Amino acid sequence: MEDLQRNQTTAQQAESLEDWEVNALRDHELHSSKYFRLLESRRKLPVSLRRQEFLDTYHNSQIILVSGETGSGKTTQIPQFILFDEWASGKKVACTQPRRLATTAVATRTAAELDVPLGEEVGYSVRFERKSSKLTRLKYMTDGLLLSEASKDRDFSAYSCVILDEAHERTLNTDLLMALLKMATSRRSCLKVVIMSATLNIEKIQSYFPGAATFEIPGKVHPVEIHYLSDSTPRYCYCAISVVQHIHQNMDEGDIMLFLPTSGDIEMVCSILRKKYKNLTVLPLYSALSRAKQQEIFDDSEYRKCIVATNVAETSITIDGIVYVVDSGLEIRPVYNPRLRMSSVLTCPISKASAKQRAGRAGRTQPGICFRLYTEETHNTCFIPSAPPGILEGELASQILLLKVMGFQSVGTFDFIDPPHPEVYLCGLQDLCAMGYIDDEGTITSKGRIAARLPVHPKWLNAFMEGQKNGCLREMIDLAAISSTQHPIFSRPPPARFAADIAHRRFACPLSDHMSQLNALHAYESAMKTDKRLSISQWCFDSFLNRRALGEVVRIRDQLLASLQQELAYTKEICGFEDAEYDAHIRKTLARSFFYQCALKHPHSHATIYKTVHEGHTAGIHPESVLSREKQEWIVYSEFVSSGIPYLQTVTAVDPAWLIDLDFFQDDSLPKTADGGFKQPLVKKSLDKARKKKDEEEDLISFEELELKATPLVKKSLDTVWKKSDDVEEDLMSFEELDLKVI
Ligand code: ADP
Ligand code: MG
Repeated sequence: MEDLQRNQTTAQQAESLEDWEVNALRDHELHSSKYFRLLESRRKLPVSLRRQEFLDTYHNSQIILVSGETGSGKTTQIPQFILFDEWASGKKVACTQPRRLATTAVATRTAAELDVPLGEEVGYSVRFERKSSKLTRLKYMTDGLLLSEASKDRDFSAYSCVILDEAHERTLNTDLLMALLKMATSRRSCLKVVIMSATLNIEKIQSYFPGAATFEIPGKVHPVEIHYLSDSTPRYCYCAISVVQHIHQNMDEGDIMLFLPTSGDIEMVCSILRKKYKNLTVLPLYSALSRAKQQEIFDDSEYRKCIVATNVAETSITIDGIVYVVDSGLEIRPVYNPRLRMSSVLTCPISKASAKQRAGRAGRTQPGICFRLYTEETHNTCFIPSAPPGILEGELASQILLLKVMGFQSVGTFDFIDPPHPEVYLCGLQDLCAMGYIDDEGTITSKGRIAARLPVHPKWLNAFMEGQKNGCLREMIDLAAISSTQHPIFSRPPPARFAADIAHRRFACPLSDHMSQLNALHAYESAMKTDKRLSISQWCFDSFLNRRALGEVVRIRDQLLASLQQELAYTKEICGFEDAEYDAHIRKTLARSFFYQCALKHPHSHATIYKTVHEGHTAGIHPESVLSREKQEWIVYSEFVSSGIPYLQTVTAVDPAWLIDLDFFQDDSLPKTADGGFKQPLVKKSLDKARKKKDEEEDLISFEELELKATPLVKKSLDTVWKKSDDVEEDLMSFEELDLKVI
């Protein structure tokens, strides 16, 4: 390796190092036999056949756009080519992925291909989980994580080359990285950037980097026969099962890949197929699965494999041996409505580009067949050409804050590949202003700077500060960690939903979902501590709690504690479980931190219908909430979601008296109609009532206070009152005495 010169290596040089019986990367350890098996198969990948051409392009340009069919070896091979070529630089090579699942899977695969322990020369880094060390020279990471690194170092100075993979997915984070890297390359001429994409939607990226070199990997694609349904059906799961049955019983060898939208659908279909066929290996694939289960899809099987997957198997993960694809034509997609500030996850039709990509999975090794569970007309008329970029689909507050921290004052004129919708942008600015992270001129405040550095959504900083005042910082940190996990801690598997709801009742707090979450977390932690013999997996299973999510909560919480110790002077708790006001402190803190997410109950509705305070949007309480049947007047909610019906999710009942002093609830700030009246008179009325009650309470002067202020005359009469009341008390017989007399 010592002989390699930066950006001057040849394919032949690298290959002879790879062919060596000792591992060139690891101080001359001997290679394992598995290494040579893998080496043989990866040398046959389309990209390996063109290694020298790739290196020539790489040496001659600073920015390179690589496109090629899925499975051609982009994700696993190109970073290795670059690793050898950049070895002499002494810096790292980063390769980003939009998804955590793919990040860890490809890092594991590449470490095996290079015959090094994962976490040493090849590592990965995803939010709240890192497997890398000082030795790491090739780092797979999620795009979000590289973005947060970039906020501290705009020049990407730890890296000699940054590879953005799956750029065709156009996630918000990858889009931002493209813009930042475009700028960084003009400052650091030795920084190389490689943008890799499947053969979808690449024109837009090409036009954004006009001077960049392009490198196309010609893929071997076999023809795929496409079949459509003659009539559409809403029962896509049952239709999919019938098609899989048909393939398994009547068609030649070859594995099956079935695309379904949700993990619930996947589990249901898998359990039916497993019961029906003992000679079919049915494997689910979705992000919530444990890593071991995800890895099973790559294992050999004596039977035909049927992989039932979400769209992760579309481009990020390639599985060999697929001959049949069954495509439901659906996927789940996050959608954000800035006017409602509502995010929803909807089951939507896929795009034409995705349909083509899914079908292509069947033709990787031999001619294949794709069964589309929709009509040709639906495909032609209802499917959009390609999915819109993430920047047009999400909330932007934290990204705007990040750009402001990096010194981009007017984010509105930032050179985005596709600029965000102005309404979403404005909405993000308004939210940041309400949180106190930017001032009226849009300049970032010192609080905003701290918020941007947090490893959770910046909105939590307010909760931490308020929690510190009220003695419940620890609980706010727990809640922030719970809200940042990928999956909910309460598990509600569809077939056992009712049983799950009953099991969850032992954690329920009647006034707050947040408190219920805390109760579940605390119960999990004490189960871990108190009974070492108890199997924690069994305990979680019986309690219908997601053990993986809870483990993640604990990890996130520990990271948060460490970063908060630096940011806020983290103090010991004042308020504990035994405090009578424990619940109230937490609810008050939530109310005062997320005041802009308050809603008021509609007084005349039979069902529990609420209206959000500022925007005046109507929504129900999510049926899974402990408050769904309660009639609390004021609530604070964490999410505004929709699955057809708009719902407020994760809610807590609050007392308006906790809010009345905040600027947001003063008459001037409440929304007005065109003629100057209050848009929501009920909000105004309820706030006034709370104010009046508070004033009355303050007017009641205690006897002790009265005594202090009293003139001698008043004092004398007070003494008479005291005496009288003492006499009355003496006259009152105790129960015990009364009992005695009765006997
Ligand atoms: P691309 O990024 O171009 O889609 P990849 O580099 O992901 O291609 O895949 C190249 C080859 O490596 C494929 O044949 C794929 O099956 C194999 N491969 C990738 N990841 C794994 C893994 N985790 N386990 C087994 N094989 C894998
Ligand atoms: Mg790939």
